[in-house]
Amino acid sequence: MLKTRPNAKPQTVGGKPQTNKIVSMGQHYKFVCTSCDYKAIVSGEPDRGLVTMTDTFECLDCKEIFDLIIKTYSETNEWTKTAEEISCEKCKGSNLTTWHKGECPKCKSRMTIDESVTFLWD
Ligand SMILES: [Zn+2]
Ligand SMILES: [Zn+2]
Repeated sequence: MLKTRPNAKPQTVGGKPQTNKIVSMGQHYKFVCTSCDYKAIVSGEPDRGLVTMTDTFECLDCKEIFDLIIKTYSETNEWTKTAEEISCEKCKGSNLTTWHKGECPKCKSRMTIDESVTFLWD
């Protein structure tokens, strides 16, 4: 016998909402500084594409943030870049640090993600 329970809360189906995120593909976000309007399109954290792994770095000389490939792999091999092999694309310097996510490299204010734009890459 099925009983109706008038006071029952509506059932949540499967708990958390399902997202159709493709895990093998990295995602980039547009970070915008809330203070100086600096913008950067980066993943913001270690991210894995189909054949590469990237992380977001800050050049302490250029005061820019950007993603750099830290690992390349295939089905049989993988190559991890050493710290010496990672350099700033602009000044070619190695005065890099992993980005403190959400911190503007220019003015150290908070950066927020512009949710209206996302970028997929592979
Ligand atoms: Zn800023
Ligand atoms: Zn630089």
